[in-house]
Amino acid sequence: MEQKRFTKNDGSFICAHCGKTVLPLGYSSRNHCPFCLWSVHVDINPGDRACECGGLLKPVFAEPDAKKGYIITYECQKCGEKRRNRAAHNAKVQPDDINLIIKLTVAE
Ligand SMILES: [Zn+2]
Ligand SMILES: [Zn+2]
Repeated sequence: MEQKRFTKNDGSFICAHCGKTVLPLGYSSRNHCPFCLWSVHVDINPGDRACECGGLLKPVFAEPDAKKGYIITYECQKCGEKRRNRAAHNAKVQPDDINLIIKLTVAE
C-alpha cells in the first residue's frame, strides 16, 4: 500500500527538455516546465495523461488573457498537434518564467 501511494504521486517530474526538477503546483496539475515552458504531449484533456504520443511540446506563442493570465500555445514536435495551456506565472512554488512568456507574446 505504502509503495503504491508513492508511485501514484506524479505531482513532480523532471523536465524532458531542460532536465530540471519541477515541483507540483498545488492548486492545479502542472503541465509544463516553469523554467523553459516546454511540455510533453501526454494529455488529451488537461491532466488526464491519456495521450500516447509523448512528443515534446514546444511553446510557440503566448497571449494575455484577462481572466487566466497568459495562454501558451504549444506545437508537438512529434505529431504536430497544437495545444493551448494556461501559464502558471502566479504560482507560489516555481512560477513560470514571466520573461520567457513575454518573449513568446511577440513571436510571429
Ligand atoms: Zn524545462
Ligand atoms: Zn504529439
